Amino acid sequence: MTQMYNKVTDEVVKKLVAICGDQYVTTSEPLRHSYMARGIMGNEAVLPECIVRPANAEEVSKILVLANENLSPVTPAAGGLSGGFALPAIEPGGIYMDMTRMDKMTVDTENRVMVVEPGVKSGDAWRIFKTKYPDWAPPIPDGAPPAATVLGDAIERGFSLVTGVYGPQADMIMGMEVVLPTGEIFHTGSWALPGAKPFYRWGIGPNPDGLFLGSQGSMGIITKCAIKMVPHPHYKTVVAYGGETWDDIIRPAWEISKHEMGIAERTVMVQGGNYELVMTRWPKENVPVDYEFYKKIGVDQKWMNYECWAWSKEELDETLQGIDKIYKDYEVREKRTLPQQDLHPKQVASRLKKPNKIAIPYSLWQAGFLFITWYCPWLESGEMMEEYCTAMENYGFPPTMWVASIDHARQAIVMPILCYDSTEPGIFDKIREFNLETTKSFLKKGWINYRPDTFVHAPETFSKAKEYYKMLVKFRKVLDPNLILHPGRLAIPWESVSDEPSPLQE
Ligand SMILES: Cc1cc2nc3c(=O)[nH]c(=O)nc-3n(C[C@H](O)[C@H](O)[C@H](O)COP(=O)(O)OP(=O)(O)OC[C@H]3O[C@@H](n4cnc5c(N)ncnc54)[C@H](O)[C@@H]3O)c2cc1C
Repeated sequence: MTQMYNKVTDEVVKKLVAICGDQYVTTSEPLRHSYMARGIMGNEAVLPECIVRPANAEEVSKILVLANENLSPVTPAAGGLSGGFALPAIEPGGIYMDMTRMDKMTVDTENRVMVVEPGVKSGDAWRIFKTKYPDWAPPIPDGAPPAATVLGDAIERGFSLVTGVYGPQADMIMGMEVVLPTGEIFHTGSWALPGAKPFYRWGIGPNPDGLFLGSQGSMGIITKCAIKMVPHPHYKTVVAYGGETWDDIIRPAWEISKHEMGIAERTVMVQGGNYELVMTRWPKENVPVDYEFYKKIGVDQKWMNYECWAWSKEELDETLQGIDKIYKDYEVREKRTLPQQDLHPKQVASRLKKPNKIAIPYSLWQAGFLFITWYCPWLESGEMMEEYCTAMENYGFPPTMWVASIDHARQAIVMPILCYDSTEPGIFDKIREFNLETTKSFLKKGWINYRPDTFVHAPETFSKAKEYYKMLVKFRKVLDPNLILHPGRLAIPWESVSDEPSPLQE
């Protein structure tokens, strides 16, 4: 039977006020609506009943104890820029815990670690580093809006401005302060030893931090995170090469990225796409949709960008020459033509700007957009993108596709961007059908959804990985016996979401 939750009563609101103070608790309807987002990353979102803004881990703990007593669901949110994912997915919506008041940041250049609270925004971290620590860079998401947080992105396992070298954001984490759903507070990594610095992730025993990373706020609330910062050399540029097929961009990028301890170390971000990615950044009625127009303005059908950072001009030149040589050799060997693009200095500058804001205009095309993200082995990404583009066209969406290398092209993050008219009747059902069809096919190929949604990716994946799912349900029930935390977001357990058949059923 579906898990039952209670509504947030006036009495609960009074107790929340007693914990956080009057000005940090609201049930105002317009304010609750201001947190709502359907789109960007997820379409399932329910209006929360109450917003609370704690100041520290102790207040977070007290709120969770209260939520357990009242059986109210609690949804944690940092910047809220993962769209629907930072909102409740079930009714009643319960307590929305806006963490933005907790915004302290400390920087330790000796141990090369920064400590952030959940409210530290990427734009602020970048600005502070630029003026106070110019030789270091905070690991912020490359393209997320400046209000997205460092911590939100790290616990989501997102992709950063140096992801091509350093891997997913969660790999950068050195320790966390966690408030469990039952209200207990603990630290992971070497931080678990009182007085110790967060210098060693694997800490003083088996490290449970993976349970919280990618859990979409359903296992515990992170109130602090120690994360590696990276060196920031200032000889930088971006080069791009075009092609006609996905293999034209995927294969040379693989050769460049696997040149580890060589040019690949200075190629911090490798990302590509197709011409539709350019076209869908404008309102639909304002731009031609056929390729001929884009060809004339020098946009290839597909292309790959390489953002390079180096300590000297010589190092940068050597990296660019290394990339070019791999392309030239590839052209001869494979009998392909893969032109280097003639980038305008403004194009280079906008790519190098952080956070780069390039992804924001997709909403212009038709008012709605949705990023769907998958991981697969790098060399299989061409096949995934081909299949995705065909499916997008079949469903009437422009085949807008983006791909990036994670950790020297060990993995690809493949992201179709669904541009749609959110006022079109039935559009959300159509998106769900599209998601279901592609998900079923991709899971058979062993590809993995990066930010599973509650009603398609999670149940489809877990019904194929039953043993793993059973373990997740066990862990969750230990950590959160009343299942109050962001219930249903990852469908762990299924009865916290729906009374439809569980993914465990045959
Ligand atoms: C235009 C655009 C471009 C983007 N580009 C990128 C990009 O380049 N790279 C990238 O990785 N991402 C990108 N994103 C996705 C997203 O913005 C980032 O992952 C973002 O950093 C998420 O951080 P946030 O602070 O907004 O998290 P939120 O949306 O607030 O939270 C993310 C998830 O974590 C949970 N959560 C939040 N805080 C806590 C907490 N303290 N404890 C436990 N759980 C918590 C939430 O419930 C939610 O499930 C982009 C998004 C947009 C809209």
